[in-house]
Amino acid sequence: MLHDSTQARLGWLGAMAQLGGALKAGEEEAASRLTAAYASAPTRCPRCASGRLYKLGDGGRRCPGCKYSFREAAGRWIGRHRLPVRTWLAVLRGFDVGLGVQELAEMASLSMPTMGRVHRTIQLSLAALDPEWLPVVLACEAGAPVPAAFFVRRENGAVKVSVNLSAPAGEPARLDLPPPSADDAALRRFRLSVRRWRGLVSERRALTLKELELRVNLHGPMFDLLVDALTRYVPAELAAA
Ligand SMILES: [Zn+2]
Repeated sequence: MLHDSTQARLGWLGAMAQLGGALKAGEEEAASRLTAAYASAPTRCPRCASGRLYKLGDGGRRCPGCKYSFREAAGRWIGRHRLPVRTWLAVLRGFDVGLGVQELAEMASLSMPTMGRVHRTIQLSLAALDPEWLPVVLACEAGAPVPAAFFVRRENGAVKVSVNLSAPAGEPARLDLPPPSADDAALRRFRLSVRRWRGLVSERRALTLKELELRVNLHGPMFDLLVDALTRYVPAELAAA
């Protein structure tokens, strides 16, 4: 008996060690993906835009041209919040599976106001991936009335949400959907996902629509897309505003 329970316990310990190892490896891999993502948009000096930089010991960068030191995240969406990498990873994993601001705040041990701002930055970075959506991102950033009229169409097998800029901003919100067709899974998913959409406030409404478009088209994990969007530079039109 003793032998059996010892065997069972050893088996259990082994399984836990394996699981712990897998989780740790997952975190390291995710962290390195975050770091690697910076490389796809090479770091440049936020003051003079020079790309000739020195690496500092703490991971920061120094521009010999204008003698300015800065973090690699400076000027990028992700640089708007000083969160540890593991907190970012927790937030992005939670966002990926569709958790709301309150659940994300609890999971990442952040205050609700902080998590609200981080969530907004994630949504802004996603919307900014599409140049057509820059007017929405600009309005959100400027605190101006956000476009409220949108139309949905099918484009190369994907759902595409466009902004109707000729319609007045503000209320009432308007979303024109193509008629349902039985064989269109992506459009069906989109129709389901926008059911509670009208209840959101105007800024969230616009940004959430873009998020839903991306989710419906990906129909799978969006972690890589989130990392890509967040490590991009805030568009110059916004940085200058
Ligand atoms: Zn510089």
